[in-house]
Amino acid sequence: MSIILIAIVIGVIAFFALTQINKDGKYADLGINISRVYCPNCNQKQPIMRKPANERQALFGGYTCKKCKTEMDKYGKELKT
Ligand SMILES: [Zn+2]
Repeated sequence: MSIILIAIVIGVIAFFALTQINKDGKYADLGINISRVYCPNCNQKQPIMRKPANERQALFGGYTCKKCKTEMDKYGKELKT
């Protein structure tokens, strides 16, 4: 019983630690972005629930704008393809 409790506490701490990762740091890909993302090109709000369009998006998150097809990472930074 106490092991489950400890596991939950560690999980919660790990989650909050991941949300605090600096998006410009070298661990940015591991971070969790909890704020809404807007398209850097046309300012279109991106959906919370997303369907990964490719492997990179499935692994690290990111969006493809429905309006202008701009690819961005999970922080809303445009990706050059
Ligand atoms: Zn767009």
